[in-house]
Amino acid sequence: MAASALYSSNSASAKFLSSAHRLSKASEKSFQNINDDSKNSDSADKSGFDLVDELTQNLVNAFENKEVIPPYEAEVMFGKCTACDGLIEKEANVVNGQHYHPSCLTCDDCKQPLGNEKYFILKDKSYCKRCKDKYLETCSKCGKKVEENTIRAKGSNDAYHPDCFVCQTCGCVLHGKFFKTDDGNHLCEADFMATRKKCFRCGRAVMELSLQALGNTYHPNCFMCSLCPKKLDGEVFFFSNETKQPLCKEDYERYEAKTCSGCSGKIVEEKFISTSNDKYFHQDCYSPN
Ligand SMILES: [Zn+2]
Ligand SMILES: [Zn+2]
Ligand SMILES: [Zn+2]
Ligand SMILES: [Zn+2]
Ligand SMILES: [Zn+2]
Ligand SMILES: [Zn+2]
Ligand SMILES: [Zn+2]
Repeated sequence: MAASALYSSNSASAKFLSSAHRLSKASEKSFQNINDDSKNSDSADKSGFDLVDELTQNLVNAFENKEVIPPYEAEVMFGKCTACDGLIEKEANVVNGQHYHPSCLTCDDCKQPLGNEKYFILKDKSYCKRCKDKYLETCSKCGKKVEENTIRAKGSNDAYHPDCFVCQTCGCVLHGKFFKTDDGNHLCEADFMATRKKCFRCGRAVMELSLQALGNTYHPNCFMCSLCPKKLDGEVFFFSNETKQPLCKEDYERYEAKTCSGCSGKIVEEKFISTSNDKYFHQDCYSPN
């Protein structure tokens, strides 16, 4: 019943590589910078990265304009193929920072070259479109394959599409805080609260620690004297005969306890003697005569 944090795991998610991403790591970075004006500050720190940035810009332009990248630039960008050690001249597939000829990078399942088609990286392996489904996880809700952004509840292996991870009761998509029921379902906070007992004093849901007294449920901190701020959790306490609310010993003595007709002291003991003429006695103070 404990609250769990929702997190999304990328480790098992497929990464779709578009042609623009068939660039080296360095160029991916620059590519992001080009699109991010806030980071394009005119800092005086012009370093050796200028050359790379310029080349990258050319590469990006080349991809956008579908031009052929001049060989010397490709050479600078891609270097040698990890598989065959040959120079990569035009286009490279990039996997984990390693560069490959499109014909040298093969599907880890069917061993066919991935070439220029879309490919998918799952758990550090590369797969073609046709093979990837074998390695994708199945969504526990809709039964379809999860290609991107796997949602997994902490401590569980079940995978979900982000839109399929929903509250069992109201069907809302669960972001952030959610609750797991004993039978393995997930609830939003509001619906989980609705399943909980309400504190007799404050009316709010009692989540973990609860205190039962006279058939009612309390937050331990809410179990306090109804006439003063004294907390009664673990203390001797009484119930008011009138309000049925808890009272501390002092307030019970002051407002509700009977006075002993023998010793004139207050009777706080559970067992006492009451006589037919409305007199009350401590058990030890009573002497029938
Ligand atoms: Zn090669
Ligand atoms: Zn394949
Ligand atoms: Zn799904
Ligand atoms: Zn809900
Ligand atoms: Zn309460
Ligand atoms: Zn009190
Ligand atoms: Zn007495």
